[in-house]
Amino acid sequence: MIVAANWKMNPELSVAAKLASDYCATSFAGVTRILFAPHPYLVPVGVRLEGSGILLGGQDCHPSASGAHTGDVSTGMLHDCGASVVLLGHSERRADHGETSELVAAKAVQAFSSSLSVMICVGETLAEREAGNARVTVLEQLAISVPSTLPTTALTIAYEPVWAIGTGKVATAVEIAEMHLGIRGWLDEAGFNQTKILYGGSVKPGNAAEIFAVPHVDGALVGGASLIAADFDGICAAAAD
Ligand code: PEP
Repeated sequence: MIVAANWKMNPELSVAAKLASDYCATSFAGVTRILFAPHPYLVPVGVRLEGSGILLGGQDCHPSASGAHTGDVSTGMLHDCGASVVLLGHSERRADHGETSELVAAKAVQAFSSSLSVMICVGETLAEREAGNARVTVLEQLAISVPSTLPTTALTIAYEPVWAIGTGKVATAVEIAEMHLGIRGWLDEAGFNQTKILYGGSVKPGNAAEIFAVPHVDGALVGGASLIAADFDGICAAAAD
């Protein structure tokens, strides 16, 4: 199981340092933890994680190795700061920055060339689900976002229904099962048979066990609840059970 924390543009540095240290106080058998920290905090947070086994990740990267891209961060820079993984195609980046699946694929190729593994997010909006297009939307995002050249062990998929992110609404076990089965089928067909599939969207300690019991759910990507160490630990404990 993988449980990944997405801190997004939170919290302030002193809180981030304490939170990272608190994560390290406990370990969970059979659970790989990943922390996607804000870029300026990668080094100070990474120092706190040393020796804990918790992997450090960036929340985005540029598709080029270097160059005139003011404000952007390269995959080499992430690697130099201690990251071993990068989160790509989060729905907030797709919405806030107009990121396309084509761009996500280019970033994934660049990330792998810097020895980073990638976690690619896919998920439908409420309008797409209500129109009966959830599955086709997600499969199309996969087909375009995932480069065929990526090794299966360097890729993780996070299925995050956009309407469930930060809203307190969680997809039902049936909705998660249907989508994860579809994603599993697509990945196996494309040769990504060791790629894990995480669910994301308002995962909390109180609903994690039910979500982890759904077939083809290999863990969770956690936003809000990852900002409270006890809640993140509760989700990790459910993954370890
Ligand atoms: C996320 O941002 O990836 C996420 C799943 O957020 P939350 O857990 O707050 O819904």
